[in-house]
Amino acid sequence: SIYGDYIKSVIRTVPDWPQSGVNFRDITPLLQNRAAFRKLVDSFVHRYQEMDIDAVAAIDARGFIVGAPLAYELGCSFVPVRKKGKLPFRTISETYTLEYGEAEVELHSDAFRQSDRILIVDDLIATGGTMLAAAKLISRSGGHVVETATIVDLPDLGGSQRIREAGYGVFAVCS
Ligand code: 5GP
Repeated sequence: SIYGDYIKSVIRTVPDWPQSGVNFRDITPLLQNRAAFRKLVDSFVHRYQEMDIDAVAAIDARGFIVGAPLAYELGCSFVPVRKKGKLPFRTISETYTLEYGEAEVELHSDAFRQSDRILIVDDLIATGGTMLAAAKLISRSGGHVVETATIVDLPDLGGSQRIREAGYGVFAVCS
């Protein structure tokens, strides 16, 4: 993407967090840097402004950070895809497997109209489990997933490939 190398340069790698052997990609220095944060949001706006997006569906919680300004700039709706038990109204959910155990994402059943064009955003794709669960959830609800978008893709973990094999496009600002 246009600012990919620059965005990548302001993401911090924290070794052995949250557990030994994991290199956590920390986006807080990127958010702290006003020029970088603006270029980040602009990267998504540039890609999606002519794609007739009806709603940005953002994944709890770091997806919200880019999802909200993006929806505002595109002039479309904002839909939160939340972790289990956070949404108060009628929900539909999708369970997926983690390395240890299971996780669940939820969506309000009235979050968008049938056939609405939905863009899904999150901060990072690792195994792809979270993004794929969100995409399946939106498809099951009758939304059209235009693309899935992330700030960071970790291609060595195979997540973005897995999402593409399931039939969804993937856009990453950097890898
Ligand atoms: P996946 O489901 O693709 O294995 O993991 C992606 C999800 O976990 C995303 O919602 C993301 O926020 C979080 N995540 C996993 N690893 C990292 C990381 O290194 N950095 C950040 N910022 N988020 C991560």
